[in-house]
Amino acid sequence: MKKIALLGSTGSIGTQTLEIVRRQEDLQVTALAAGSNAALLEQQIREFLPEFAVLWDEKAASDLRVRVQDLNVTVLSGMEGLLTIAAAPGSEILVTAIVGMLGIRPTIAAIEAGKAIALANKETLVTAGHIIMPLARAKNVPILPVDSEHSAIFQSLNGETENKIHKIFLTASGGPFRGKKKEDLQHIQVEDALKHPNWSMGKKITIDSATMVNKGLEVMEAKWLFDVTLGQIQVVVHPQSVIHSMVEYEDGAVMAQLGTPDMRLPIQYALYYPKRRCLPGKRLDFFELANLTFEKPDLDTFHGLKLAFTAMEKGGNLPTAYNAANEKAVSLFLQKKISFLQIPELIQACMERCKFTKQPDVEEILETEADVYAYIESRW
Ligand code: NDP
Repeated sequence: MKKIALLGSTGSIGTQTLEIVRRQEDLQVTALAAGSNAALLEQQIREFLPEFAVLWDEKAASDLRVRVQDLNVTVLSGMEGLLTIAAAPGSEILVTAIVGMLGIRPTIAAIEAGKAIALANKETLVTAGHIIMPLARAKNVPILPVDSEHSAIFQSLNGETENKIHKIFLTASGGPFRGKKKEDLQHIQVEDALKHPNWSMGKKITIDSATMVNKGLEVMEAKWLFDVTLGQIQVVVHPQSVIHSMVEYEDGAVMAQLGTPDMRLPIQYALYYPKRRCLPGKRLDFFELANLTFEKPDLDTFHGLKLAFTAMEKGGNLPTAYNAANEKAVSLFLQKKISFLQIPELIQACMERCKFTKQPDVEEILETEADVYAYIESRW
């Protein structure tokens, strides 16, 4: 029986993780955590009977305690709650599927406690990769990627431990505005940006795909996960989302992972690595695939992607400024307070005014985040 603690259980990745648990007899959920959705978390507690449940919001946690008082579950709240379940002895793997930099401290706590990490929360590596990866190596703890592109790279590295990566081809669908120019994007509405051509995901990440900031975050995530340089990562726009990413080796051989766009595959692969399990669902039909196409990303129109390369090159706390500015900007865009093209503008403004720190510790990362938030809130 594999025991898992799941952060972000009510979200897109969280609910898909539970779908997998529901179908497998050898997975057991020992802890569930969410932000404030007490109603859905109650349903999940009743179905999966975890030992612990956490809601970030104290009021929602009190409400949940009343709702589940007939069950043998301990309900906690806030960061204390997340840290408790991340390190609790009952689980062997932490699935981290919450959004934002909130994921950093529970991930560190879980690594310290020797748990394997199934990582969807890319912000953790983007902002604190320099802390997380050395710590995981020191504790001999695997960081198993859940993001589909990183899982594809991880799968393409199987059996290649003796071989160096020459290049990583990180594929991108290009989002709903692929092929458009800046002038076409001036009057984009929230509803247009939420229409992803291939993947069904949460709102924040869908907007990030439309701006290609998501690909920027993934470039930074790949750098930390696979220990490669900026020059070794090539973003390739591949609108069909059939090839989920590729690795080129020194002899020119390219290994790729292909499949239908279904997040359950990378989630399940991370949970059972290195084994594969049956996963019902649509399979690739090569005779239906008319053609697979590839394009260079348009860094002028999708300026947010270009800024990610700058943030990654300079490092330090700049990726934190990039990520925090994007989080706020996306939230303002979703509230219709700023335009689509203002998202990268805000990111650039926050990167330019960021007080640079080369090796930020967790406190300094969170300070940078708070500083960016305060700056944006004071102006927009
Ligand atoms: P969602 O917005 O769908 O879900 C977020 C989850 O985090 C919810 O369970 C939410 O709870 C919980 N949460 C929010 N705030 C807090 C908090 N303060 N404390 C504890 N839990 C909190 O996000 P996604 O599932 O789309 O994404 C999760 C992560 O995975 C992100 O980092 C994303 O970039 C990454 N990812 C997502 C993919 C996808 O297909 N969706 C693909 C690859 C990576 P509540 O419901 O109560 O608000």
